[in-house]
Amino acid sequence: MKQLIVITGASSGIGAAMAKAFSAKGHPLLLLARRVEKMEALKLENSLSISVDVTDATAMKAAIASAEAQYGPVGCLINNAGVMLLGQADVQNPAEWSQMLNVNVMGVLNGIHCVLADMKARKTGTIINVSSVAGRKTFPNHAAYCATKFAVHALTENIREEVAMDDVRMVTIAPGAVETELLSHTTSQDIKDGYADWKEVMGGVLAAEHIAETAVFAYEMPQNVCVREIVLAPTRQQ
Ligand code: NDP
Repeated sequence: MKQLIVITGASSGIGAAMAKAFSAKGHPLLLLARRVEKMEALKLENSLSISVDVTDATAMKAAIASAEAQYGPVGCLINNAGVMLLGQADVQNPAEWSQMLNVNVMGVLNGIHCVLADMKARKTGTIINVSSVAGRKTFPNHAAYCATKFAVHALTENIREEVAMDDVRMVTIAPGAVETELLSHTTSQDIKDGYADWKEVMGGVLAAEHIAETAVFAYEMPQNVCVREIVLAPTRQQ
């Protein structure tokens, strides 16, 4: 059987598309997010869906252990779960900053902590962290979100250097605008309206499937080839 792939944030958008793409390649899957019913509704063969909040490292570790008991060691962890709560720094509720830092940064570190020691010991494994173009450049109203995504780039590259000699691959995938539920959680209607106008100027955005194909591409490279970073965005995106 092919290697176990663990995907966080698999209940919608990019994570759900990744689940379908890796399933189509014959991989057993562990799908993690809070809305377990949405992951089960994907009806993917050889998949385990467990309701886990990525800020809860203990729950994530237990879920991974149960999937490994069934499908063997994790071949690839995809830290994809994320939230984007856009706002102006002077008016935004700081609770939204905490949520983004906890999910987008601590959630990624928690995932890495769950699998890295074992990957190092086995001298193989891949961790793909989903960042954003907003982890490479800034945009209006994105201060805290950009801070979390710049952090994802930094921690992924740092750990890549640490584990390179253990043959563990660390990959950052940084998408531009993709059609998903991500924007819907922002509370400012003005910002949401502005985003809709921006999408129109771009003539549309990427599909979640484009990001899923990119993850499969990076993963399927031979283990001695590490695709360190891929940034992909709509051609007309600035
Ligand atoms: P969605 O909102 O569609 O998906 C986000 C996923 O994250 C959901 O499955 C959600 O599941 C999960 N999630 C959120 N909070 C938690 C949590 N505390 N614990 C576990 N899972 C959680 O958006 P996308 O698919 O767009 O987002 C996926 C990733 O892609 C994010 O990291 C995002 O920042 C990044 N990205 C997206 C872009 C875009 O334009 N859409 C552009 C660049 C990057 P549930 O609510 O069930 O827990």
